[in-house]
Amino acid sequence: MALKPLDIFKHLPKTNCKECGFPTCLAFAMQVALGKTELANCTQLSEESKKRLSQASSPPIRTITLGSEKSKVNLGGETVMFRHEKTFYNPPPIGILLSEGLSDEEIDRRLEKFCSLIYERVGLTLQGEVIAVEDKGQGRFLATVKKAFNTGKCLLLISPEAENLIKAAEICQGTKPLLFLAGQVPTEKLAQVAKATSLPIVVSSNTLEGIAKMTAVLSDQGVTDLVIYPEVNSVGTLLKNLVLIRRAAIHGGVRQLGYPVLAMPARLTDDLLTQTMYACLAIAKYASLVILSDLSGEILFPLLLERLNLFTDPQRPLATVQGLYEIGQPGRDAPLLVTSNFSLTYFIVSGEIQNSRVPAYLLVVDTEGLSVLTAWAADKLNAEKIATLVKQTKIEEKIDHRTLILPGVVAGIAGELEEELPGWKILLGPREAAYIPVFLKNWKP
Ligand code: SF4
Repeated sequence: MALKPLDIFKHLPKTNCKECGFPTCLAFAMQVALGKTELANCTQLSEESKKRLSQASSPPIRTITLGSEKSKVNLGGETVMFRHEKTFYNPPPIGILLSEGLSDEEIDRRLEKFCSLIYERVGLTLQGEVIAVEDKGQGRFLATVKKAFNTGKCLLLISPEAENLIKAAEICQGTKPLLFLAGQVPTEKLAQVAKATSLPIVVSSNTLEGIAKMTAVLSDQGVTDLVIYPEVNSVGTLLKNLVLIRRAAIHGGVRQLGYPVLAMPARLTDDLLTQTMYACLAIAKYASLVILSDLSGEILFPLLLERLNLFTDPQRPLATVQGLYEIGQPGRDAPLLVTSNFSLTYFIVSGEIQNSRVPAYLLVVDTEGLSVLTAWAADKLNAEKIATLVKQTKIEEKIDHRTLILPGVVAGIAGELEEELPGWKILLGPREAAYIPVFLKNWKP
C-alpha cells in the first residue's frame, strides 16, 4: 500500500543532515511518498527501518517480470482500483495460444501473423507480446516451444507434466517464461518446479479461497513469483473474480491475492469475436496477462488502443520531444511550420503535412504536452519560446527563406514573434489541421 509522507517520516532519523539532497527529513519523506526519490538515498537510515519501510511501501500487487532484455514485460505492480486515482503502471501483455493439437502449418501461420502485427501510434510501437504454448500430450510440445522461442516473444508454457515444463524452460535460455503446471496440482509440486527452474509459476484453482491457500503455502516456502489464474467457465465469473482479487489486494490488504492475474478468453469460447469482447473486458478490469486463441489485425489493434488509453498516466499528457522534424525531404525552400508537443497534435499536424506531399520542416515546441490553444492560454507557447527554439535548431542554415508559419489559432503572438525574430516574416497558417494540405499546396516562400 502506498505510504503517506508522515508514515515514512516516522522512520527517518530526523537529523536534517541534507545528505539526501533535501533540506529536511520531512521534505525527503514527501518526495519518497510521491515516488520522486528513493528511500535508499537517505544515508542515515538504519537497516531495520529500511526493511520495515520497504515492506510497507511495496505495491499491494506483486510485480512479475517476464521475457528477456529485449522482450521484457511486467505483470501486476498496480496500486489503485481506478486509473484516475493515480495511474495504472503495467499494461497487460496480450498473446496467442498455440495448442499442440494444431497442425504444424496452422502453428506457423499463427506465429507468422502474430509477429507481423506491429503498429506505430503517437510515437509508440504497439504489438502483442506473449505466445502461450500448451502441451496436449502429443509429443510435439518441445518442438512448438522452440518455434515460439525463436520469435523472441515472451512465453507462457502450459503442461500437465512437470518434467515437460522443466525441459521446455531449458529451451528458453536467456529469457524468463511463465510456467503453468495445469490440472489439479498439489502445492508441493508447484514449489518443486518453481524452485527447480527459478521461474515464475501460475497458481490456479476454481475458487479464490483455494488460490489464497496455495499462494500462502508457496510464499511460506519462499516461492513468491506467482501469477494467479482463477479457473472460470463464464465471462461473468471471470469479471467477478478479477474485481474481487483487485479489491481484496488493494483495499483488503489480502497479500495472498496480491499477485498478477492471468485471463484466458481462449479457454472460455472458440469464437474469436467473443474472445475479443472478453479480452476487452479483461484488459479494462484488472487482468495482468490476456491470452486469445489467435489474433488478426482487426482484433489486436483495437485491444492495443484500449490498453494504451487505459495505461497512460492521466496526470501526464503524451508528449513528443521538442525539436525540428523533417517531413519528407525538405529542401531550402521548404515551408517551416510550428506546433505544440502534445502527441496527438504533433501526429495530426505531421500527418496532414504528409498528406499534402509538400516536404516541410516542423518546429515542435515543448508545451508540456498541452495542445496549441491550451498551451497559448497557459503561456507555454509564446513568442520567446518559439524564437529560442528557432535559434537553437539553427533552421536558418537549412532554409533560404525567413518565413515561419504559425498555427492560425495563435494569431495573438505573431506581432511579438516578429519582434523576437527580426528579419523573419510570420505567416498565419490554418486554424484547423485539416486545411494544412490546401494551405501548403498554395504556399510560396
Ligand atoms: S539523509 Fe536522511 S537523515 Fe539526512 S536529511 Fe535526508 S532523510 Fe534526513
